[in-house]
Amino acid sequence: MIFLVKGRLATLADAVVKEMTRFAIPPESSREAGGILLGHYRGPHVEILRCTTPMPSDRRTRFGFVRQDKGHQDVATKEWQASGGAINFVGEWHTHPERHPTPSWVDRRSWRRQMARPERDPLVFIIVGSAAVYCEFGVDGKLTAMGRVSH
Ligand SMILES: [Zn+2]
Repeated sequence: MIFLVKGRLATLADAVVKEMTRFAIPPESSREAGGILLGHYRGPHVEILRCTTPMPSDRRTRFGFVRQDKGHQDVATKEWQASGGAINFVGEWHTHPERHPTPSWVDRRSWRRQMARPERDPLVFIIVGSAAVYCEFGVDGKLTAMGRVSH
């Protein structure tokens, strides 16, 4: 899956789309799900190769997902080490109980906070609905909508 805005590409490996989508359809879709995105930067582009999925200490409710299990960071560290630093944390994803997802004000506030760190690497924020994937790019402290792609 490919998102392109202003010369920037965000590509998602098929396996990642498949894994995330599984949580946006029944029976998993009764509660929101999420995780982190792992991949690498190529110039202005981001290639997403892996994602984590909900872990036992995460909080999943009908209209919310709070990632609080340490396991996500552990996976990121392991992948980073195993790849000799080529695979990094590049963003996060969560599901919404809607077909064509739109970020909530809570999502935007959280993304803005993450982008506020000075010299923060670009981050990709994904929301997965039952029919489409929404993508937003955070670069230089600013968020840019990348649009929606059907899955
Ligand atoms: Zn949300």
